[in-house]
Amino acid sequence: MDVSTDFSVAIAGAGLSGLCLAQYLMRAGIDVHVYERDPGPFVRQQGYRIILDRYGLEALRESLPRPLYRLALTTGDEPGGHVRFTDSRLRNAFTITFKIEPHATRQVDRLTLRSILMSGLDGRIHYGRSAVAVDDGPDGPWLRFSDGGSVAASVVVGADGVRSALCRQLIPDAGPANTAMAGVYGRSPLWRDGESVIPEALRTSGVLAIADRPGRAFFFTSMRFGESPREAFARVTPGSYAPTGDDYVMWGMLLRQEEVPMGVHGNLLALRELAARLSADFHPLIRRLVDTAELDATVLNLFAAGRRPRRWAVPRATMMGDAVHVMPPFGAHGGNTALRDAALLGRRLVEARASGEPVEDAIARYQDEMVPYAFRAVDTAAGMMRRLTGDASAPRWVLTRVLPRLHRVTVPEA
Ligand SMILES: Cc1cc2nc3c(=O)[nH]c(=O)nc-3n(C[C@H](O)[C@H](O)[C@H](O)COP(=O)(O)OP(=O)(O)OC[C@H]3O[C@@H](n4cnc5c(N)ncnc54)[C@H](O)[C@@H]3O)c2cc1C
Repeated sequence: MDVSTDFSVAIAGAGLSGLCLAQYLMRAGIDVHVYERDPGPFVRQQGYRIILDRYGLEALRESLPRPLYRLALTTGDEPGGHVRFTDSRLRNAFTITFKIEPHATRQVDRLTLRSILMSGLDGRIHYGRSAVAVDDGPDGPWLRFSDGGSVAASVVVGADGVRSALCRQLIPDAGPANTAMAGVYGRSPLWRDGESVIPEALRTSGVLAIADRPGRAFFFTSMRFGESPREAFARVTPGSYAPTGDDYVMWGMLLRQEEVPMGVHGNLLALRELAARLSADFHPLIRRLVDTAELDATVLNLFAAGRRPRRWAVPRATMMGDAVHVMPPFGAHGGNTALRDAALLGRRLVEARASGEPVEDAIARYQDEMVPYAFRAVDTAAGMMRRLTGDASAPRWVLTRVLPRLHRVTVPEA
């Protein structure tokens, strides 16, 4: 493909949205480079799965070459499935069922998705480059790095995720607010001695088990790869890095931030012990998941919620994803909204190139469209978090006391 070099885009952050935008622009022949803080592509465990909804899938379909999009689908879990809300003993309160359609909501492994999003971007992702600021020069913006270097581009995009370094400068009146909740996340093998540790009744379910005590809940879901990434990657993108494809259970112990002990950040053993202590009164299946967790995949996440930006400080710079609208992980909107941003911004920039529209106007149009849908998602996720983990006693009583008694036991406590 011919790449035009009179118009260039510099993206800070090689996460879901940054890579998706890079794919979109590459396909349109735009000169794009991605600058990532991590020293290499797979230095951090990004071992959990992600649910893609119609927005995320549509964004990937629009941005990726067709074989890569199909790779995301074939290596993903089967479409459809359920989300079950239960009490701490896994007695069902109510269930949400996803439709089974070719492009319906489905789970994909995050590491596999990231690997797919990197395919074909060789030489365009620059590792060990930590963005610190955007300078607004007379000929356009410059992206500045912590190592003292900088690059000029026609457009700079901040896609540097939660706790973005560029956020304070580009959207000075916004920035994320802390919430009361946190999660210790882990990953455990799905198969033991040839048998699934998740009973058949929950095979295609994500489960949120809500404890009697406000602010305490446990989430888990199994990730089964459709086609093995190794085989599928060898066929479609030979030579690119393919994750192992071992099925797993992803889980999260939800707790209040005030319950997070000092000094556990990054201390994997202490984090797993914390999850084990807090899950002591839960169903034995839940306790087993925590006991069998892979230590190096245990992470602490302090939930935050972005605030609506009213002012964008640099006309040729903008932001996408968690960097502008981080949200608590309730409802699986964060990554989907980030991918939606990437496809939308890609579309607006490519249209501007074709029509001669000033790029500042195209960016402003992207921002005017993105802010309403993204902050609707933030509000939805924050509202869901409050309802499911907050202090309000009536809904909690119905969820954890009334509804479970009306339904059959989902998983016997054998
Ligand atoms: C436990 C959990 C489960 C989730 N499940 C779902 C789900 O099922 N569905 C869903 O839609 N969403 C889910 N999310 C949310 C989703 O993961 C995020 O919303 C999504 O990753 C945001 O994408 P992004 O591109 O904005 O940022 P990221 O994917 O986080 O990427 C940001 C990148 O920027 C890099 N970076 C950071 N600082 C700098 C810097 N200064 N300079 C250069 N690079 C930098 C980072 O290293 C990273 O690579 C979940 C989140 C969590 C925590």
